[in-house]
Amino acid sequence: TDTVRPAGATLTVDLDAIGGNYRILVRELAGVPCAAVVKADAYGLGAAQVAPALARAGARWFFTAHLDEAIAVRAVLPGDARVAVLNGIWPGLEAAFVAHDLLPVLNDLGQVALWQAHARQLGRPLPALVQFDTGMARLGLPPAEAAVLAAEPDRLAGVDTQLVMSHLACADEPGHPLNRTQLDRFWALRQAFPGVPASLAASSGIFLGADYHFDLGRPGVALYGVNPTPERPNPMRPVLRLEARILQVRHIDPGESVGYGAAHRASRPTKVATVPIGYADGFLRSSSSRGHFLLNGERAPILGRVSMDLITLDVTDFPEAHAHPGAAVVAIGDARPIDAVAADAGTIGYEFLTGLGPRYARVYR
Ligand code: PLP
Repeated sequence: TDTVRPAGATLTVDLDAIGGNYRILVRELAGVPCAAVVKADAYGLGAAQVAPALARAGARWFFTAHLDEAIAVRAVLPGDARVAVLNGIWPGLEAAFVAHDLLPVLNDLGQVALWQAHARQLGRPLPALVQFDTGMARLGLPPAEAAVLAAEPDRLAGVDTQLVMSHLACADEPGHPLNRTQLDRFWALRQAFPGVPASLAASSGIFLGADYHFDLGRPGVALYGVNPTPERPNPMRPVLRLEARILQVRHIDPGESVGYGAAHRASRPTKVATVPIGYADGFLRSSSSRGHFLLNGERAPILGRVSMDLITLDVTDFPEAHAHPGAAVVAIGDARPIDAVAADAGTIGYEFLTGLGPRYARVYR
């Protein structure tokens, strides 16, 4: 990678740690199977590498958001993997789902009818998942439509229903009353589909306890090292390392400013190190003057505004031997977790992860 971008940043993805996180979730599910959510290119980490690693760790169910993501994931997975598309199906896409052996998540009665019509045309039942909206009000059969299906399950004739599912809105807040409400609503609905496996819990939901597990866990973000239990220490292994090399070091006098908008003004003689990561690399501009990188294991605070391709760090307290052009700095790593980086930018691990983008030299190990 040094020949591709000699002075760039490297994002290292630890596939063993992702497999280890899958096994942690399997243990937590205590016998209930565990899917892997690999939408958005496996949360920005690279589905072509990450999905096969999860299959090696034992995953057999995979979820993407879009059809094109599912087609790409299908191509790198063993034939017995089941790949489902959370965002559902749209008129004209039926044949592609069948051709690539993909499962649509049916999110309203119109999608049910569309899939049934295609099944009639092919003269055989077609597999699909059915999602109920139990309180998220985002995707899935709205309560009135869910009630219609639950009252007349025959309305799914022609659909080989492989899973009924719903999604929790507040699973990262264990005490939130909506968790129990959604659980109760989902319990009531799934009674109408005896013998059909059910799934409610994503990463955080898995840690709400066995009541929420049903027949399949559906984690995404926890696989990638983000803490699914924000009120407790992170049970997951870190997965990412984002590292760059210092491009330049300069000294500025008190009263001089650093970067766009002169947003930082030095109050003491200051040593500034410039590193080749910016907001075009997904390092959010809201990190300006907030948070730090690690240099030789010590904090080097972000100084002034994050610009498109560059960040300036305060290395005043570092000796020449550590703070010099070519020295490695760590933006994300074991001692600088993604959750902390995201929090310093005023956001959540999900957004920081998925925003990291294609610009880094990527290493998988
Ligand atoms: N299930 C559904 C329906 C989702 O939309 C998502 C992601 O947002 C997941 C599962 C995975 O969630 P998480 O990344 O919180 O584990």
